[in-house]
Amino acid sequence: MLEIKASQTVKEGSIFGQISSMDHEQLVVCHDEATGLKALIGIHNTTLGPALGGTRMWPYATEEEAITDVLRLSRGMTFKNALAGLNLGGGKAVIIGDPKLKNEAFLRRFGRFVQSLGGRYVTAEDVNMKTSDMEYIAMETKHVTGLPEIKGGGGDPSPVTAYGTYMGMKAAAKKAFGSDSLSGKKICVQGVGQVGKYLIEYLIKEGAEVLITDIFEDKLKKVALDTGAVAIDPNLIYDMDMDIYAPCALGATINDDTIDRLKCAVIAGGANNQLKDEAKHGQILLEKGIIYAPDFLINAGGVINVGAEYFGGYNREIVYKQAEKIYDTCLYILNKSEKENIPAQQAAIEAAKERINAIGRVKLSF
Ligand code: NAD
Repeated sequence: MLEIKASQTVKEGSIFGQISSMDHEQLVVCHDEATGLKALIGIHNTTLGPALGGTRMWPYATEEEAITDVLRLSRGMTFKNALAGLNLGGGKAVIIGDPKLKNEAFLRRFGRFVQSLGGRYVTAEDVNMKTSDMEYIAMETKHVTGLPEIKGGGGDPSPVTAYGTYMGMKAAAKKAFGSDSLSGKKICVQGVGQVGKYLIEYLIKEGAEVLITDIFEDKLKKVALDTGAVAIDPNLIYDMDMDIYAPCALGATINDDTIDRLKCAVIAGGANNQLKDEAKHGQILLEKGIIYAPDFLINAGGVINVGAEYFGGYNREIVYKQAEKIYDTCLYILNKSEKENIPAQQAAIEAAKERINAIGRVKLSF
C-alpha cells in the first residue's frame, strides 16, 4: 500500500498540515449554491464509535477561522466522549454564515450531507442551532440527535450539562477543601444562560453564596430574582474574592489578562475551551495551586444525554446516573494531576487517549 508520509508532503498551514498536526481522520467540505449552505464537518477519531458532536453556526470572518474552529472542536469531542465513557468518537460541524440564513431547505440540505457520511458523523445542536433545527435535519438523515421531547428525543441537554458540571465542581471542592460540600462557599457564576441558570439552582440549594453575572442585564436580574443569587457587574468577576470561579459563558476566559487576577481556589464551570492556551495556562494554574476541573470532562452531561438518545431507549434516570459519574472521574483526574505533577487538562487528555488506545486494541480481535 502506498503510504503518504505527512511530514514529506505537507506544507505548514496547509489543510493536510493542520489535519495531520491534530491527528484528524477527515475534513468534509459541504457546499450548496441554491440554499447558500457552506459547512465543514470535522471527523477527528472514530476508534470508539461514530464521531458525535454538535453543529455550530457562526458568521466566521474567514475560511481559515472556520477550519481552525471545526478541527479544534472535533478534537475536543474525541476526548470529551472518551472520558465520559461513551462509545463515541469525536466530530463537529460548523456552518459558515449568519444564523438568519437557516430555513427548511438549508437545514435539510445540510442533513443530506450528514447522511452521505453513512453514520461516521452524528450531529446535534450547538451554538445558534436549536432542537427545532434538528427536526429539519432529521428529515434527511437518521444520524442526528438532540431532538425535542415531543418528537421522542431527549430534549434540551443543558440541565444534564449543569448537573454534570455541579458534580465536577463538588469533586474539585473535595480536592481543594477536603470536603465536597459547597455550603457557605463563595461561587461566582459567569453567564446565566442555559447551563448557568440550572447550575445556580443546584448551588443555591446546597447553601452556597452565589454571585452571578451576565452581559444581558435583564436576564441577569431575572435569574437573580428567581434564584436568590446576587447579581454583579460582568467586569468585576475576575477581581472578586471567591472560592470557586464557574465560567459558563464564553471560552478562553482564562488567559494572559485574567490568570493573575483570579483569586480562587477552584475553577469549575460548563463553558467549553476555558483555557486560552491549553498548555501554557494549564501549567500556570498548576503552579498557582488552583484546582482546575477540565471543562470537557465536567461539561459532558450534554453529550451523555444526546448520546443516550442516539443509541435508543432513552432513559432520563440512567442519563443522570451516568452524568453523576463525572464526580469520580474528576477526582481521579485531579489525583492523577497531583501525583504526576502535570496540569489537570493534560491529565484528562492522557486518560482519554489511554481509553481510546485500550479499546482500539480490543477491537483488533474478531
Ligand atoms: P447560552 O448562550 O444559553 O448562555 C451563555 C450566557 O453567557 C448568555 O446568557 C450570555 O449572555 C452570557 N455571556 C456571554 N458573554 C458573557 C460575558 N463576557 N460575561 C458574562 N456573561 C456572558 O449558552 P449555554 O448553552 O448556557 O452554554 C454556556 C457554555 O457552556 C458555552 O461555552 C457552551 O459551549 C458550553 N456548553 C454547553 C452545553 C449545553 O448543554 N448547553 C454543553 C456543553 C458545553
